[in-house]
Amino acid sequence: MYDVLILGGGAAGMSCALVLGSAHQKPFAQGKKIGLMAHQKASHLQTALFNNVLGLPPKTTGASILKNGLEQLSEIYPHVDQIHKEKVLEVRGASGDFSIITNKASYQTRLLVIALGYTNTFFIKGLEQYIEPHQKARPEKQRIQLKNSDHLVTDGIYVAGTLAGWRSQFAIASGSGAAVATDILTLWNHGEHVKVHDKLI
Ligand SMILES: Cc1cc2nc3c(=O)[nH]c(=O)nc-3n(C[C@H](O)[C@H](O)[C@H](O)COP(=O)(O)OP(=O)(O)OC[C@H]3O[C@@H](n4cnc5c(N)ncnc54)[C@H](O)[C@@H]3O)c2cc1C
Repeated sequence: MYDVLILGGGAAGMSCALVLGSAHQKPFAQGKKIGLMAHQKASHLQTALFNNVLGLPPKTTGASILKNGLEQLSEIYPHVDQIHKEKVLEVRGASGDFSIITNKASYQTRLLVIALGYTNTFFIKGLEQYIEPHQKARPEKQRIQLKNSDHLVTDGIYVAGTLAGWRSQFAIASGSGAAVATDILTLWNHGEHVKVHDKLI
């Protein structure tokens, strides 16, 4: 049983996993089982080239971020499970006991973060009722989002990145994933607000 399972290994999903992973020394996060469904084939990062993202050297490729992001996660926060090359097909259950069915296996989790991007080919059984047209993309593109209030779709289900209704910019999608991570950490900390900062001694 995972405490939280993040679906999607793009900008929002990896960013969420890094912030959740970074809280491992906080007492309320100790022993929490975190997983990232790190399927990346359909990520918009695959073909992206970045010149306008603070902190990324110009001409950074999205493909390199896909690779380096997972390496950073496994090197610094190896307690975050990475599940590779599995496509999510279905979500069943309710908060505290979700089942995630992929093309290869099934997983149990208490909380769920959905960071699967805003393309309209999205079809996950069990989530259809939350789909609506994207509010911040050109209508002819037929992008979608999941209905949410400040990233919360329903009890136990969060959405992050472009699928949460944000415009498609790397910093926005990453920030959305980080925001969801801090919401979950705050929940684990019984409502007391949490951020995770490293600092020079
Ligand atoms: C060509 C191009 C150029 C761009 N250039 C810029 C730029 O210059 N500056 C900028 O700021 N932004 C740019 N972007 C936008 C940026 O790449 C996106 O905003 C960002 O990737 C969105 O992050 P996301 O996490 O919402 O979605 P994604 O990064 O697309 O991640 C979604 C993830 O979900 C996974 N997934 C989908 N379906 C399933 C499923 N059923 N099961 C399991 N996993 C699944 C995908 O494989 C992927 O890993 C560009 C995008 C493109 C396409």
